[in-house]
Amino acid sequence: MTKANSGLLNRIRTRLAPALFAPPILAFLPALTLATFWLGGEAALLWVALGLPLVFAAMGGFSGRGRNAVPRDNVTGLMLREGFELELDRVFHDCAKSGLRSALYVIEVDDFKDLVHRDGQEAGDRVMLNCGERIASTLRNGDTVARIGDSKFAICLTPVLQLDLESCVQLAGRIQAAVEEPISLDGSTVYVSCSIGFCLHSRAPGETPAEWTTAAAAALSEAQQNGPSGIRVFSADMQQRSMARGSLREEAAEALEAGQILPWFQPQICTDTGRVSGFEALARWMHPVRGLVPPAKFLPVLEDAGLMERLSQVMLYHSLTALNAWDAAGVKVPAVGVNFATQELRNPNLSENIKWELERFGLPPTRLSVEILETVMTDQPDDVVTRNIAALSELGCHIELDDFGTGHASISAVRRFNISRIKIDRSFVLRADRDPDQQKLIAAILTMAERLDLETLAEGVETVGEHALLAQLGCDHVQGFGIGRPMPFDQTLDWITAHEAKLQDAPEIGRHTR
Ligand code: C2E
Ligand code: CA
Ligand code: CA
Repeated sequence: MTKANSGLLNRIRTRLAPALFAPPILAFLPALTLATFWLGGEAALLWVALGLPLVFAAMGGFSGRGRNAVPRDNVTGLMLREGFELELDRVFHDCAKSGLRSALYVIEVDDFKDLVHRDGQEAGDRVMLNCGERIASTLRNGDTVARIGDSKFAICLTPVLQLDLESCVQLAGRIQAAVEEPISLDGSTVYVSCSIGFCLHSRAPGETPAEWTTAAAAALSEAQQNGPSGIRVFSADMQQRSMARGSLREEAAEALEAGQILPWFQPQICTDTGRVSGFEALARWMHPVRGLVPPAKFLPVLEDAGLMERLSQVMLYHSLTALNAWDAAGVKVPAVGVNFATQELRNPNLSENIKWELERFGLPPTRLSVEILETVMTDQPDDVVTRNIAALSELGCHIELDDFGTGHASISAVRRFNISRIKIDRSFVLRADRDPDQQKLIAAILTMAERLDLETLAEGVETVGEHALLAQLGCDHVQGFGIGRPMPFDQTLDWITAHEAKLQDAPEIGRHTR
C-alpha cells in the first residue's frame, strides 16, 4: 500500500472511529438489522450480520484502542502530528462557527540535538517523555497535546468562552516552569529549557487551520531567536520576519565565502600600563543591502547550517593576518582573542589546523587567545572538546574563559583546562562604581582569580567610573565601549596611535597596587 493510501485510510479510520465506537451506536443496532431485513430480505440481513464485525475490525475495534485509534508516539504515548491536525481542524472550525476561543501552542526543547549528541538517544527519549508528561499536567481536560517532531510538542486548547492574551501567556509560563524542573537520569541531573510560540484563534491570519499552524510556528521561531527559554505570541509582522530569516540562511553561506563576514577588532588594555594588551576578534557581516548585521542575528543561522567551523577558519585567518600587519606597521599588539563555539570545538582536527595556520603565518601560539564560553565546561564537554582545549593549551595558546560568572564552571575544570585568563561578564561590571553589591562580587572573583593564578579581564566597561574602579580593585585588563568599540581592521592603526598619544599626556587612572 502506498504511503498516500495508508494515510487516507488512517484519516478515514480516525474520523469514523469516534462515532462507530461510541456507546449510542449500540442503541441503533436492532433498528438497523430490522430495517435491513424489511428492505432487503434475508440475504441483506446476512450481509449486514457478517459485514458489521468486519467493518468493526477494520476500524481497529478489536485492537483495544477503541476511540483512541489515532497513531501514538512510542516514547511519550502522545498523539502524533496526523491526529493532532484532525483535532486542530475540528477546533478551528468549531471556534469559527461558535465564536468560542482557543489557542495553538508550539513548544520546542532548546538545544535538544546537543543533548542527544552529548548524552545519547536514550537520554533524549527520557527527556521527551518527562517533558510530555509535565506539559500534559499543566493542561485541562479536553485540551489536546501531541508530539509533532523530535523535540517539538503542540497543544490545542479546548474551545472556551473566555480566553485572553494574559491567561495564554501565563499558561506558557507554567509550561516552561514545568519543563525546566530538573530531570534526573540514572543518578545525574539534566536541566532543559524550552521555547514557546503561540497564536490565539482570534488572531490567526487567514481562513485555514494550516495558516493557524504557520502563525504559531512563526511565533516559535521568533521565541527561539530570543531564546533560550523564549515565549512569543504571534503578531502580523512576524511572518515577514520569519521569511526574511529563511533567506538570511541561504545568503549566509555565500556571504562567508564572498568575504562579507569578517572580524572587527575591539581593543583590550592593561590597567597597569594603560597600553593595548590585545584585541578581540568579533564577527561582523557587511551585508550589501541590510547593512551591518550583528552576530546575534547570523550566528544561529550559521550554526543551523553547520557553518561554524568555516566561520572559525575565516576568523582565524583574518586575525592572524591582522597580527602580521600590526607587526609590520611597528605597533605592539601582544595577542588576538578568537571566539570558539562548542560546535567548532568538536572538530577533531581543530588543534592541528590552528597549529598549521600559526606556522604558515610565522606566529608563535602565545599570540593567539582561544576564547571559550564558561558554559562549554559546565555542559560536560565530550572527549573531543576536552582533547582540543588541552591540545591548544599544550601548543602554547592562551585559553580564556568567556562570560565568566554566568555558567558555574567548577574550579577543578578551570585547573584541568589550564585556563590562563577569565573574562568577567559584563553583568558584574555594569554600574560597578555605584553599586556596592557589584563591587563585592567583583572583589570576590578577583580574589579567587589571584589565588588560582589566573589573569583577569573585565568585559563591557562603558564608563570612566567603572574603568577606574576595576583598576583599583586589581583587575588586570579591561575591554568595552568606554575604551573602544569593535572596529574594522583599517581603523585599528589610527585608534592605537591616538590611544598611545592620549597615554603620553593623561594622568594615570587608578593604577592598582596588588
Ligand atoms: P562576547 O564574546 O562576549 O563578545 C563581547 C560582546 O560584547 C560583543 O558583542 C561586543 O561588541 C559587546 N561589547 C563590548 N563592549 C561592550 C560594552 O561596553 N557594552 C556593551 N553593551 N556591549 C559591549 P558582539 O560583537 O555583538 O558579539 C556577541 C557575541 O557573539 C560574542 O559575545 C560572542 O559570543 C559571539 N561572537 C562574536 N563573534 C564570534 C565569532 O567569530 N565566533 C563565535 N563562535 N562567536 C562569536
Ligand atoms: Ca568573547
Ligand atoms: Ca563575553
